[in-house]
Amino acid sequence: MKAEKRGGKAKNSRMVNVPCSICGIDMDCPDPKPKNDMLTCDRCMELLEKGYSPEELKMTPQDIAKHIPRCEKVAKEMQYLAFDDAWEQVHEIGIEHFDHETLAKEFYNRGAVSMLLLMISLEMPPEMLDQLEEVSREAKKMRVVEKNNRGE
Ligand SMILES: [Zn+2]
Repeated sequence: MKAEKRGGKAKNSRMVNVPCSICGIDMDCPDPKPKNDMLTCDRCMELLEKGYSPEELKMTPQDIAKHIPRCEKVAKEMQYLAFDDAWEQVHEIGIEHFDHETLAKEFYNRGAVSMLLLMISLEMPPEMLDQLEEVSREAKKMRVVEKNNRGE
């Protein structure tokens, strides 16, 4: 069925951007859209085939927030890998020899790098890193504009 869909794409080059009917993320769809057909993105299609229910795949902020308690629990486990040993070394040397801002940034970076590596190991295309960089640069620019507008 996937091959058929791809073949169809090649013949019918007109595509429209539509939200996935389950998670809501934007996806390409042949134009005109198929009628009476659930428009499901590749991610949801794959997870439905693995037995997940549509309810579990929704991605509204409320749906995502439901995962916070479990994320906190897993984060605590991951803390061991990205934090505990290095923090022990800081105490061996003596925390008074470190600048607090430098330490905070170092440990934030360790956590963020762990998350990004995890996302890549879970099949996030590495080129997503370029998009994340772009989004971060844009967010930084917006923050500078906001600060200037507030006169900071
Ligand atoms: Zn989806």
